[in-house]
Amino acid sequence: MANEKKRALVTGITGQDGSYLAEFLLDKNYEVFALIRRSSTVNFERIQHIQERIHLLSGDLLDQNSLMSALKTARPHEVYNLGAQSFVPASWEQPLLTGEITALGVTRLLEAIRATDSRARFYQASTSELFGKVRESPQSESTPFYPRSPYGVSKLYAHWITVNYRESYDMFCCAGILFNHESPRRGLEFVSRKISHGVARIKLGFAKELKLGNLDSRRDWGFAGDYVKAMWLMLQQDSPEDLVIATGEDRTIREFCELAFGYVGLDWRQCVTIDKDLFRPAEVEVLRGDASRAERVLGWKPEISFVELVHLMVDRDLDLVGGQSGG
Ligand code: NDP
Ligand code: GDP
Repeated sequence: MANEKKRALVTGITGQDGSYLAEFLLDKNYEVFALIRRSSTVNFERIQHIQERIHLLSGDLLDQNSLMSALKTARPHEVYNLGAQSFVPASWEQPLLTGEITALGVTRLLEAIRATDSRARFYQASTSELFGKVRESPQSESTPFYPRSPYGVSKLYAHWITVNYRESYDMFCCAGILFNHESPRRGLEFVSRKISHGVARIKLGFAKELKLGNLDSRRDWGFAGDYVKAMWLMLQQDSPEDLVIATGEDRTIREFCELAFGYVGLDWRQCVTIDKDLFRPAEVEVLRGDASRAERVLGWKPEISFVELVHLMVDRDLDLVGGQSGG
C-alpha cells in the first residue's frame, strides 16, 4: 500500500467541475478514472489538455451495469459523483430524465460501490438549490431545505440517499452543499458565462444585445477551481460530514452585468434586454452561504474574489471570441 497511488473515479469529468477536479487530483498524484457517456460527437473540450493522463471508462448514471464495471476496473479509493443534469430550466422541460440521472443515478452509483467495495469514500455534489425558497439567511448546514425546481428536488433526493447510505451501511459518504461556482469553463447557458460571453461578442462587434431574464435574483458566486479543493478535503477527513461551501457574499445578476460590461468600457443598460421567456416558473430569489464550518473543519476558504472571477471570465471570452474570428 505504501507505494500504491491513490485511485479516484470521477463522474461528470466532461463538465466544468470534473475538469478542475481531475487537474487537482493529477497534481496530487492520483490515478484518475473517469466515466464518459457515449455521444455522437466528442465533447472533451474541457479535458483535452489532460486526456492522455486519465483513464476514460464508458458508462452512464442511467446504466447500472456500466457503473459496476467502472468500479471493478478503477477499484477507487475515492468516488466523486459530479455527473448530473445540472441546468435548472432544463429540469422543467425534462423532469423525469433529471430525476433519473440527478436523483436515482446516485442510488445506482452507491449500490454499485456497496456491491464492489464499500470502503471507497464517496462525494456527492449537493447544491445551494436545496435551500431554494430560503428559510433563513445566510444558509448553513442546519438551514431547512425547500427546493424550487425538479433539479432541486432531484438533488434533495440525492443528498438524503447519500446521508442514508452513510447511516445505514457505515459507508464514508458525504455531500458538499456547494453554492454557485463559475469559471471560463462554465456552460454557456448559465447566467455568469452567458454574460461574459455576451460581453465579448458585443465588444468585438459580433452581437448588439444580450437577452436575459430576472436580473433581481441574487447568487453567492465563487470560482470552481477553489471549490474542487473543498470536495477533496471533505474526503480526507477522519469522518464524513456534509458541509456548505460558499463565499458568504451575494450579488444580483444586475451587479454581475454592471461589472462585466463596465470592465470593457460598455454600459450594460444599452446592451441588455429583458426576455420574459427566460423567467422561471419558480425562482430562487436569493442564496448566500455560511461556510464557517468548512473553514473550521477543512481549513478551506475561497481564494478568488468576485471581481477577479468576473474579470477572468470576460478576459477568457474575449480571447475565445477574438480567436474564433481569426482576430
Ligand atoms: P456540468 O453541467 O458542467 O457537468 C455535468 C456533467 O455530468 C457532464 O460531464 C455530463 O456529461 C455529466 N452527465 C450528465 N448526464 C449524465 C449521465 N446520465 N451519466 C453520466 N454523466 C452524466 O456541471 P458542473 O460541472 O457545473 O457541476 C458538477 C456537479 O455539481 C453537478 O452535479 C451539479 O449539479 C453540481 N453543482 C454545481 C454547481 C455549480 O455552480 N457549478 C453548484 C452546486 C452543485 P456530458 O458532457 O456527456 O453531458
Ligand atoms: P442556477 O442558480 O443554478 O439556476 O444558475 P443560473 O446561472 O442558471 O441562474 C442564476 C440566476 O440567474 C437565476 O436566478 C436565473 O433566473 C437568473 N437569470 C437571469 N437571466 C438568465 C439567463 O438568461 N440565463 C440563466 N441561466 N439564468 C438567468
